[in-house]
Amino acid sequence: MKHTKVKELLNSASTLPEVNAKGWVRTFRNNQFIALNDGSTINNIQCVVDFENTADEILKRITTGAAVSVTGALVESKGAGQKYEIQVATLEILGDSDPEKFPMQPKKHSMEFLRENAHLRVRTNAFGAIMRVRSVLSFAVHSYFQEKGFVYVNTPIITGSDAEGAGEMFKVTALPFDNTPRTEDGKVNYKEDFFGKETNLTVSGQLEGETFAMALGQIYTFGPTFRAENSNTSRHLAEFWMIEPEVAFNDLNDNMDLAEEFIQYVIKYALEKCPEDLKFLESRLLDEEKSKPQAERSEMALLEKLDFVLKNNFKRVSYTEAISILRDSTPNKKKKFNYIINEWGADLQSEHERYLVEKHFKCPVILFDYPANIKAFYMRLNDDTEPGKETVRAMDILFPGIGEIVGGSQREERYDVLIEKMKALGIDEEELSWYLDTRRFGSAVHSGFGLGFERLVLFVTGMTNIRDVIPFPRTPGSAEF
Ligand code: ATP
Ligand code: MG
Ligand code: MG
Ligand code: MG
Repeated sequence: MKHTKVKELLNSASTLPEVNAKGWVRTFRNNQFIALNDGSTINNIQCVVDFENTADEILKRITTGAAVSVTGALVESKGAGQKYEIQVATLEILGDSDPEKFPMQPKKHSMEFLRENAHLRVRTNAFGAIMRVRSVLSFAVHSYFQEKGFVYVNTPIITGSDAEGAGEMFKVTALPFDNTPRTEDGKVNYKEDFFGKETNLTVSGQLEGETFAMALGQIYTFGPTFRAENSNTSRHLAEFWMIEPEVAFNDLNDNMDLAEEFIQYVIKYALEKCPEDLKFLESRLLDEEKSKPQAERSEMALLEKLDFVLKNNFKRVSYTEAISILRDSTPNKKKKFNYIINEWGADLQSEHERYLVEKHFKCPVILFDYPANIKAFYMRLNDDTEPGKETVRAMDILFPGIGEIVGGSQREERYDVLIEKMKALGIDEEELSWYLDTRRFGSAVHSGFGLGFERLVLFVTGMTNIRDVIPFPRTPGSAEF
């Protein structure tokens, strides 16, 4: 008999004389009640075992984690909470799970413990919910852009460019083979290695994306991105997924509108498609909050927070205005921040970003017009800036609990200005000649942004550590997979 998903059984229109479900045992109570989960929903279906007519041998093997197949009638459940349960007629153990050894027993595990068992943690309710929400959000990303007529472009994973100029790259080399060119002392000459030049894993698909936007009009990338982050934070991964739209003839304001509309769309989509998973995550968070002192508890529950983002415009604030707010917020040098911003021109740290969002504006914030010297080379210089205080048409979107979620800009479309900037920064024109063609042939105003997919998932699921929203977290020192 073909099995039916637990989700479908729980939403069945009527009782049914015979159904089959396959899944994994979450708990087995009183030698009678199996809570069965098959991953299709956060909810387990209760399967009532006829223990008097079932061999002890079998009963003993119904343990947490075991894979089972149950066949029987779908009947109305007398217990609270669920409409239906399965009255088990036949039960088959498909795969045993030794209770002494299976680490994911039904109890509250610490996040650290779960991270150490990343391949098994998906067997818990919380991770099942997070992974379903993540999957729905990635579909929403495509759905938004496809509905708007954007072309999905796969930019290269192996590249020769460092778009961000931050030097956080992983080098790519082929293993030496017999005819690999070697230096005189016998070492592999990587410069003349496999590709004939140094290559790295992509830190951003933007530069390549721009070349396509300047022909297809509006494009987006959504792919794996790699950065050799040298610090261990709860917001950075060495391998993450980035969404990067790029649009010809859009200026910075259009770019901010696009980012805001996009974020609201995907959050709304998740709320519509994952109500039960999000409700579960919310109640889990509320439980956690109870153990915190009042002052540290968040003011809004998860669903309320998501709804707030949908209903309120993001506050748009210039960098210069933000700096004066931050200065004013530390009267008499009272130590509110570890790092005090005194000067215009300094880069904001995440503590400042979070102060602006969480304490000052109390809503998502778009900071724009940053000092040119703290941003990447390709950003459009503002026309009206004072010498020494040049700003660029950049924007960062800051979210409560997270800080930066989006970084974007209008791109410098003027060939001469761009070349000048590259020279000043020592960026090799030859290397980026292909990129400069976008400015040589039919250059035009264009803009785009990068959104870290995991930071979005963090926000939507209410999680606080980025390692907990990606299936297989890759961070400095982690080498399990
Ligand atoms: P941060 O200041 O947090 O290090 P960034 O300014 O270096 O971020 P950008 O180059 O602007 O990042 O990249 C665009 C977006 O990609 C960021 O806004 C963020 O959402 C995401 N992102 C950047 N680095 C990481 C990372 N190591 N892990 C996960 N997401 C990241
Ligand atoms: Mg960074
Ligand atoms: Mg940043
Ligand atoms: Mg940034």
